Order: sequence, then C-alpha cells, then structure tokens
Amino acid sequence: MTTASSRAVAAALADASAVSILSHVRPDADTIGSALGLALALRARGVTASVAFSGPDPLPVPLGRLPGADLIVDERSLVPAPLAVAVDAATIERLGDLQPVFEASAMTVCIDHHASNGGFADLDLIDPESDCTAVLVLEVLDALGAELTPDIATCLYAGLLTDTGSFKWARPESFRVAARLTEAGVDTATWSRILLDTHPFAWQSMLAQVLATSRLDRQARGGAGLVWAVVTAAQLDGLSWEESESVVDVVRTAAEAEVAAVFKESTPGHWTVSLRSKGTDLVPVARALGGGGHARAAGYSDSGTADEVVGRLREEL
Ligand code: MN
Repeated sequence: MTTASSRAVAAALADASAVSILSHVRPDADTIGSALGLALALRARGVTASVAFSGPDPLPVPLGRLPGADLIVDERSLVPAPLAVAVDAATIERLGDLQPVFEASAMTVCIDHHASNGGFADLDLIDPESDCTAVLVLEVLDALGAELTPDIATCLYAGLLTDTGSFKWARPESFRVAARLTEAGVDTATWSRILLDTHPFAWQSMLAQVLATSRLDRQARGGAGLVWAVVTAAQLDGLSWEESESVVDVVRTAAEAEVAAVFKESTPGHWTVSLRSKGTDLVPVARALGGGGHARAAGYSDSGTADEVVGRLREEL
C-alpha cells in the first residue's frame, strides 16, 4: 500500500461538488469528531457534505452534542456521492451496511491511523504514527487552507482527547495540536466532562457487578499475565452500549497482568472484545481472531457462550 499525502486528499476534496463522510460502526469520538470537523470545513467552502454511519448501535448521546451533529443523516437516506471519505475505519467492513454506498462513489478516500489498516480506497491517507484520525483530518484541512473555527476545533479535539486517553499516551505532536485547537477556542473542561466523566448512575452498579467477577491468570502469555472481565447483556440492560466501553480502563490497571480483556455481550451470545496491553503488540492477536486495531489497544467480535469466547482468547495468547 502506498499512502496518499494530505495534500493529495485536499486536492481531491477541493474538486468535489458533494462529499459523503462515513464513520465506523459503533461510532466513537474520533470517527464522529473527524467526520464532523471535515464536514463543517467543507460546508464552509460551499461543498455539500453529509456524515453517516451504519447501525444498529446508535450514536452515543455525548457525540450528538458536538458542533455539526445536525450534518449526520440517517444511513438509509445516504446516496453515493462523487467523493466518499471513510474516517477512522481500519477496514472497509467497519463501514457496516454503508460499504456498498462507499464503493459506489466515483472516488473514495480513507483517512485513518490504525496500524492494521492495509488500505481500501482510491486514496489512502493512513498514518499509524498519528494518535488519532482527527489529527490527520487537521492536516488535510491545513492543506485545503480551511479556517480552524471553534466548532471545527472542538470536533477534532474530541477525537484527540479520547484516542490519547486524556493525553496519557499522547505523542509530542499531539500536544502541539492540542495547543492549537485550544487556542482556536475549544472549551476543554466542558468537553472532558461530557466525553469522559459523565455516566448515568446505573453505570456504577453495572461496573460494581462486572469488577466483582473479573479474573486474573498470572500464567497467561508465558507468565506475562491476563486479566479479564465479562459484561453480560443482562448487566448492560437499560444502559446504552457505549457505557461498557470504559470498563477496560479500570480492568487494565491490574499490576499483575500485561494483557487486559473485556468481553462485552452486545446481544445474547454476541460479543465485542476489547484488548489492552502495556507493551505487547496486540494486532496479531486481534487479527487472528478476526479483528484489528493498535499495538496496545485492539479488538474483535466473537459469538458463543462467555466461557467459549474467553477460552478462544486464552488459547490465542
Ligand atoms: Mn481513532
């Protein structure tokens, strides 16, 4: 795969009359913030820009509060545009049911930072050295000569903040970008609270139940250790799906384990698995189980009973 430059992507966008921007399924702040930031900049240039993602999982409520969220259209109303851009999708399958709409566009662009992304568009701007897709979108906007408005900066900051774990593993470039976005007018305290520090009260009870049954295997992966927790569909009942996303951030703090896993039952018998490590490259593990991601944060989907799904991961490690 040859990676396209941000300049080449900007040139394609500058020529487009209408652009569809596609986020990945189970959308997070990086894919939605990147999409909305790009859409707002294109709208400011007079380009028709729509954002969409495939269900069935709905948009997390906090992301619906981002500037430009009104540009998100129902996936069923999205028609192929002259130019389609996928943001933060490591594979074309991550576009879900919107994959055919993406492929039917005259020209396709992929902007992403996942190490596992092998490219799937006419122009692939893929940089695993970038902490988030939002930083790559900012490079494209700079190449376009777009003005960094407070609204656009806020959308991009949402991706940067969450994908760096509140800057816990941010690279130097990300702090430079953060300074720029903040100077452009982002209300960082408010968005940290909205995106990271807000849960319904019922989340505390779910977390308590899940942590009460977490397990540690010190012998896993040649003695490196594995800690894991299972979130059942019953425990998630009444909570929106994204409320299970933060569980791994607690589970992975176990000092005795190099690898942490959280098994989240989205519907009975169907699981989304989040993997975290302190240094071990998880991409081969996630790929072997049909997923992908980053070296220290990866994931995949599986189905079966909790014991079966846990067993398959333990074998793979
Ligand atoms: Mn991302």
